[in-house]
Amino acid sequence: MNLKYSKDYQRFREEVRQFIKDHWTEEDVAANPQLSEMAQGLGSSPRTDERATAFRRAAAERGYMYRHVPRAYGGGEQAPDPLKATILVEELKAAKAPVELMSQGPAMLVPTLLAHGTEEQKKQYVESTLLGHVRWCQGYSEPGAGSDLASLRTSGVLEGDHWVVNGQKIWTSNAREADMMFALIRTEPDEPKHDGISYLLIDMKTQGIDVRPLRQMDGDAHFNEVFLDNVRVPRDSVVGERGQGWYVSRSTLKAERALIGNASMARRTFDGAVALAQMTQVRGRPAIEDPVIRDRLTDLESRVLAAEYNGFRLLTESAKGHDGGLAGLVTKLHTSTLAHDVSKLAMNISSDAAMLAPGEEHAPFAGMLVQSYIMYYALAIGGGAPNIQRNVIGERGLGLPRDPRR
Ligand SMILES: Cc1cc2nc3c(=O)[nH]c(=O)nc-3n(C[C@H](O)[C@H](O)[C@H](O)COP(=O)(O)OP(=O)(O)OC[C@H]3O[C@@H](n4cnc5c(N)ncnc54)[C@H](O)[C@@H]3O)c2cc1C
Repeated sequence: MNLKYSKDYQRFREEVRQFIKDHWTEEDVAANPQLSEMAQGLGSSPRTDERATAFRRAAAERGYMYRHVPRAYGGGEQAPDPLKATILVEELKAAKAPVELMSQGPAMLVPTLLAHGTEEQKKQYVESTLLGHVRWCQGYSEPGAGSDLASLRTSGVLEGDHWVVNGQKIWTSNAREADMMFALIRTEPDEPKHDGISYLLIDMKTQGIDVRPLRQMDGDAHFNEVFLDNVRVPRDSVVGERGQGWYVSRSTLKAERALIGNASMARRTFDGAVALAQMTQVRGRPAIEDPVIRDRLTDLESRVLAAEYNGFRLLTESAKGHDGGLAGLVTKLHTSTLAHDVSKLAMNISSDAAMLAPGEEHAPFAGMLVQSYIMYYALAIGGGAPNIQRNVIGERGLGLPRDPRR
């Protein structure tokens, strides 16, 4: 494995640096504090402002952003090159310039539309989603249908030119801010459960949609319940074939796993814990000198390194045009549980100070430790709980016998 960039790639990096200098000024950096937060991996995608939109458009025209998306739909249309993609992210983040929006719409729905959508759907939604003009939420989970998603019961009945949708979704992240929802709806009640589902695009302003926030244990309300009461959705809002939504949804789920778990998230969290151990005094000595803490950090670092080398393996495979297979499935499970274990150690190092709220004078990491600890726990569940991921890896990756199903 060669871990150095060739001369061509180093030249590419210089070109990217120059492009950013020409298009994203110091004033832009100062005016967009949320982008600096995103560069550190915190915060969600802010609704994009005009300057950031102009930057993303210019970067796409130059072939630097949304490289997998055809130009006809506002993308960069470049041959896949994971090394160039990595350099671009590194340089954009280092300069605190806008990176690609990575929320549910751009990261999960767009690849699905490109693979399964009609020409009209691609024209209508891809560019506006990439630029953040249309924001999406994901309506998959229902009470009683989370891990066993194919049991979902929200129904869609065709009446003339509309689907009439009735039912309830739950754990719908960002539903209050979203303009649209991509949802799995049971449209063929007489078919076997995996063959009776359609993938629908639903305007969140349609009459009959009621969104109610769910308060989490960290005080935030990131999730919602979405009630659908005789919601009329145009007939042509189905992505892919009617009744084939389960197969369409797999493309979204694959993108979701890649969005949630990655080695750079684990590395960032780990480096934060090391910095905390250097800064924090325990019984008059820096915590990093405590043999128990050193032991735990060493153990975690070996897991972070394993995640990074697994990432290099995936990069090498995708540079050769191969699918990462098992290595890709392992990433979400490993990195989301690892980030949680690292944040647990950070809480232990900070001891009582971890409880200080944001804004308190001595609060480590701006009072965000408890929130991160809880959030990483949730990330391990979102997009598929650890037990389910282990089953998928065992069955599809290692060819083990199937888990007994009811
Ligand atoms: C941060 C976060 C964001 C989310 N955002 C969204 C969203 O935007 N849209 C959306 O639709 N959903 C969203 N979800 C929901 C998420 O997809 C579900 O929570 C997840 O699929 C688990 O389903 P469940 O909560 O019904 O748990 P259950 O399926 O009830 O599982 C409970 C426990 O039982 C275990 N279990 C279940 N079945 C098996 C089995 N066969 N073998 C072994 N163990 C099993 C699970 O692993 C888990 O530990 C989000 C969840 C989180 C935490």
